[in-house]
Amino acid sequence: MGKLAPSMLEADMRFLDEELKRMERAGADYVHIDVMDGAFVPNLAFGMREIKSIRSSSSMVFDVHMMVQEPVRFVKRMKEAGADVITVHYEACTDLAKTIRAIRELGVRAGVALNPDTGLGVLQDEILKQVDVVQLMTAQPGLEGQRFLPGSLQKIQALRKRMEELGLVCEIEVDGKIDMENVQEAVRAGASVIVSGKALFQGDLENNIQKMKRLIEEALSEGGS
Ligand code: ZN
Repeated sequence: MGKLAPSMLEADMRFLDEELKRMERAGADYVHIDVMDGAFVPNLAFGMREIKSIRSSSSMVFDVHMMVQEPVRFVKRMKEAGADVITVHYEACTDLAKTIRAIRELGVRAGVALNPDTGLGVLQDEILKQVDVVQLMTAQPGLEGQRFLPGSLQKIQALRKRMEELGLVCEIEVDGKIDMENVQEAVRAGASVIVSGKALFQGDLENNIQKMKRLIEEALSEGGS
């Protein structure tokens, strides 16, 4: 039950409604929406207004990744705009537990994201028990021209092991330069939600989504899980 989440950043903004429908038709489970504030990351992208305007275009899960300082300020309005999952960065929250609680109280799924340089040790068991998804950045966030960081695989494995030990079933989402070449490694390591951008949007979007979904399912079935 691996899920594929095409990244909206790479979509053709002139035809966003159509792009969302194509993603859904091809079998994408989520649409991954990167929200950037120009402070936590050196870039800007998508606010509540844009998200709200496309909500009626698709019934896919709106997976909102907040690369924003103190995201607790916006979670309520994000939910109202149509977010189904709100993921915040450990590095961006003064009080992570409070932020996660605020998201859960809205009745949407809560996620915590870690930058590549942030170790798993910062996540207390109590936090892991409260979240629906842990998102690991597999490239530096918010910058162009990055590549998949190979150390990511061990981090995914270590997180999966720890969750198993704690008896938790939350998703492990990977975000950053996942392509047709490395997607199976990420799934084998324990990732269950795959964010992908350029690898899906270059060429035929629907074919690419179908191809990556097949690769995900193939890697999952190998493991017998
Ligand atoms: Zn993202």
